[in-house]
Amino acid sequence: MPSTALVWFRRDLRVHDHPALTDGLAAHERVVCVFVFDDRLLTGRFASGPRSAFLLGCLADLDASLRKRGGQLVVRRGSPEQELAALAREVEAEAVYWTSDVSPFARARDARVTEALRVAGARACPRGGNFCVDVSQPRTKTGKPFTVFTPFWKATTGLPRRPVLGAPEALPPLPAGLDPGTLPALLDLGLRGIVPHPVVAPGEIPARIAMQDWLDGPIAAYGERHDDLTGGTSILSPYLRWGCLSALELEDRARARVCDGSGAFTRQLAWRDFYAHVLLLHPENARLEFQPRYRELEWDEDAELLAAWQEGRTGYPLVDAGMRQLAATGWMHNRARMVVGSFLTKDLHLNWRDGESWFERLLLDGEPSQNNGNWQWVASTGVDPAPYFRRIFNPVLQAQKFDPQGEYVRRWVPELEGVPTDHIAEPWRMSEAQQRDAACVLGSHYPDRIVDHALERQVTMDRYRAVSAATTDAAPQP
Ligand code: FAD
Repeated sequence: MPSTALVWFRRDLRVHDHPALTDGLAAHERVVCVFVFDDRLLTGRFASGPRSAFLLGCLADLDASLRKRGGQLVVRRGSPEQELAALAREVEAEAVYWTSDVSPFARARDARVTEALRVAGARACPRGGNFCVDVSQPRTKTGKPFTVFTPFWKATTGLPRRPVLGAPEALPPLPAGLDPGTLPALLDLGLRGIVPHPVVAPGEIPARIAMQDWLDGPIAAYGERHDDLTGGTSILSPYLRWGCLSALELEDRARARVCDGSGAFTRQLAWRDFYAHVLLLHPENARLEFQPRYRELEWDEDAELLAAWQEGRTGYPLVDAGMRQLAATGWMHNRARMVVGSFLTKDLHLNWRDGESWFERLLLDGEPSQNNGNWQWVASTGVDPAPYFRRIFNPVLQAQKFDPQGEYVRRWVPELEGVPTDHIAEPWRMSEAQQRDAACVLGSHYPDRIVDHALERQVTMDRYRAVSAATTDAAPQP
């Protein structure tokens, strides 16, 4: 009987630089590649039609890559602990390889799978592969997990990396008689709702083309252009989220580019490792504010204001452009994410969790460690703390600085097409005659602003100051 292993794919949907796949192939004569659709994830707290549709595309691409090499993707649906134990028994697998992950959900699931495999007589073999470094390892000089980005980055940027691995040339065929299953459609998964114009096409093959295009040119200007709302960033985040690209390979290849943008880009990529490190070592962040004093913050509940934010009808052009870009493409520029996040929490005084959930519903790159970490950053409740008043973004000044010609706003909010550039960031300053000339009458063609930023800023200052004064600064340690 040939020695057999399973390789359980999760969000590492590629064949290049895949340590679990490489190690499985090196140690066993037969390797069965499997993906398990888990309803607890698909229809759970962060269910998403758009992201699941993207996942299905990535899986079709992965299956094609495996077939090209002589293998095939086996598809199962159910709880991974049951499905993997059953498959391991069926093909008499001795070991199951996978790429380890950081969220509390993933870690609890993997512990259950490990136990079920033990009972089935198979070893669990988790491997790295999701991040540039082993995010469980870094510690401050006093032996604690990092909670501030820059020291984390300084400590990890010089750490040795494992070698980047190539894709396997050939894969063994499926064991005779094994039912490979079939990839379901989105509706079969009980999900609906896709974004009309996904920002990128799913799968490792388009991901590698996009990576090459990025490295061949635009990365050079990343340092100057990354805040430019109409371009300047890589848009590789959906591929990193689903593991169509290895972060380590991307970092390695970016470092090899001798250009101004390379250092700025790899530093930004390190935020991804940082937030993974943070959630791994502070799993309570998934539900709670990292800074205890802000667990007492007062949030409003207002379904109408929330809907106006979600649908891009706040009357603040940059906020509306960002939210409409998200709804149309499943992606939003980082600068716009910061502005809409600040607007939700500090202009509308709505809970950052409302924003986290909405982003998880629509983002193709939506992922708990990154989304939670960034939302808590914007709400000033998380790690990498700065005084709350430094993270109250003025949506008008942000638009004037990062979209000075109004190109981004006009693209996503066509009602503002005719508004002159000197009014595009704050159309409420137009006179009635100017509004008519611009074919943009407020309250008719485009909403009047739903709140006044200057007034709401003061409310935020008062609320944050109230809990800052009442409680201590101490952050929890694991
Ligand atoms: P680039 O600028 O080209 O950066 C390259 C890569 O670096 C990105 O693909 C990403 O992997 C990483 N990166 C860049 N900025 C950040 C950051 N602030 N935090 C962590 N990693 C970063 N990113 C996600 O991947 N998933 C999320 O769910 C997510 N939610 C966010 C929510 C909010 C409120 C905010 C403010 C940011 C969020 N981000 C999230 C981070 C960031 O906005 C995206 O990673 C970035 O916009 C992706 O575009 P890009 O690939 O063109 O980035």
